[in-house]
Amino acid sequence: MRFLQAQYRLLRHYHGKTMTISHKHYLQSLGILPWQMKVSASPVIDNKTIPSALQDWNALQAAVAQCTACGLHQSRTQTVFGVGNRKANLIIIGEAPGFHEDKQGEPFVGRAGQLLTAMIKTINLERADIYIANILKCRPPNNRDPQPEEVKLCTPFLDQQIALIKPQVLLAVGRIAAHYLLQTKSSLESLRNKIHRYGENHIPLIITYHPAYLLRNPIDKKKAFMDLQFTRKILHNATSS
Ligand code: SF4
Repeated sequence: MRFLQAQYRLLRHYHGKTMTISHKHYLQSLGILPWQMKVSASPVIDNKTIPSALQDWNALQAAVAQCTACGLHQSRTQTVFGVGNRKANLIIIGEAPGFHEDKQGEPFVGRAGQLLTAMIKTINLERADIYIANILKCRPPNNRDPQPEEVKLCTPFLDQQIALIKPQVLLAVGRIAAHYLLQTKSSLESLRNKIHRYGENHIPLIITYHPAYLLRNPIDKKKAFMDLQFTRKILHNATSS
């Protein structure tokens, strides 16, 4: 199936949604102070067109499962579409499936997934409350970085998932997701602690570390939890207005 080789245009119609969230102050108990909001310039995301047949979940999921647009289809066990609440106010976006995700067909399983689940709980949410997806739907060999052409070919799927969910906030975990969503090469550190904006509807976008990175660099866990507190605040503001 070669539909991704066409030029796509996303149709996004984001509507305000309301959700009541119990806002317990987990992180304040850790002595972490509230963050100062900084709003970055809104990036311009090129519009793309997705055939109307793919503008529902079943068609989109089937298209991903059958996709052979890039070479990663040759080594995958299965595609990893995404999981969670399709009416979520928050989408967490990672990089690509790893070994365990490729085997199980679900994003963020294994040790990194367990850490992500713990991170989600610090903002008083469960995995089932949010939606979780990756930039790529197939595992790169040996977990190498996604190549630009793979990102270009695969991200219309993610863009359409975002368009269908109409979230209030996006949280990108890791450099690869941040660079795609912001169309930048800036360091992850420089992108943290800011409200970025994604797409035509200027969805608030927060950047933090990937759980796999945090497993290798636990010293940065406190900064990640501060990012989550920041995300909780932005989510609260978005869903209260
Ligand atoms: S990574 Fe994406 S574009 Fe490449 S084969 Fe898998 S689903 Fe298709």
